[in-house]
Parts: sequence; C-alpha cells; structure tokens
Amino acid sequence: MRGGPATLADIIDQRLDVFCWCNRCGHWAVLPAEGLARQMGPAMAVPRVGARLVCSGCSSRDVSTRPDWPSGGVVSRHG
Ligand SMILES: [Zn+2]
Repeated sequence: MRGGPATLADIIDQRLDVFCWCNRCGHWAVLPAEGLARQMGPAMAVPRVGARLVCSGCSSRDVSTRPDWPSGGVVSRHG
C-alpha cells in the first residue's frame, strides 16, 4: 500500500523520529520512533500516535504527530 500515512516502521526505516506538538499550549517534542514502536507497535500510523499521547506541558490529549522531516531536506509541499 502506497500513499497512506507513514507508519512507525516506515520512519524508523528512514531514520526519522516523531515530531509531536500540543494544539492547546503549543508545547512540542521529538520522540524516538523506536521507543514508540515498542509501545504501540511498528504498524501504528504516525498521525495516530498523537491520540495515545498526553501533553507533558498541560496534560491535554489534543496532541498531533508527524514524521520529523529534516529541515532543509527534500520536502514536497502541495498548495
Ligand atoms: Zn499542552
């Protein structure tokens, strides 16, 4: 399957970690993908990881996640 959201296994393969941020207070952190894969399983889609996280700043569950793409790398943007 191509075109779906990246899984933890996918981004481990690309040596990326998980960038997560809180939609309530703006707190953010980068979490190691390998540790998350151990907790949640490597087949977990990266955008769904946030649903399992709680903000360490304000205890909100409104946390979003995406692969921690390197800045300055090859980034494709649409729109
Ligand atoms: Zn927060």
